[in-house]
Amino acid sequence: MPVYDPTNIFAKILRGELPCHKIYEDDKAFAFLDIMPRASGHALVLPKAAARNILDVSPDDLAYVMKVAQKIAKASVEVFGADGVTIQQFNESAGGQVVFHLHVHVIPRKAGVALKPPASVKEAPDVLADQAKQLSAALK
Ligand code: AMP
Repeated sequence: MPVYDPTNIFAKILRGELPCHKIYEDDKAFAFLDIMPRASGHALVLPKAAARNILDVSPDDLAYVMKVAQKIAKASVEVFGADGVTIQQFNESAGGQVVFHLHVHVIPRKAGVALKPPASVKEAPDVLADQAKQLSAALK
């Protein structure tokens, strides 16, 4: 399997070299909104530790990221009135992964609304900023 590449876009976001709509941060995890959400409020949760995907992440970091994903799922239900939440996590190109720093997708769902295709429509920055503000407040 390929090794971790620290020039990936999420590593740059973690280092503060690229902007994001942050919703949560602690010493081990970081979360922000997906700029091309598959549904409104789509968030991504990452370990701060360098890990390409489920094949090289430490079990503790993986477990911690899922713990944070759960918090964000609950906050999404509260903030967006979601009827459900879809959790996705892709590994290597053959597994659907595009960005090679491990991340868990937390996607709030409304009954009867289908997911958009991956990376299909860019959300307006002001919409993302408003959603990030609401989610961050609920996560405090
Ligand atoms: P995947 O690697 O297939 O799990 O998906 C990568 C996800 O990252 C996609 O849902 C993209 O919309 C999202 N994405 C790509 N670039 C950015 C970015 N700069 N900020 C936030 N999300 C991004």
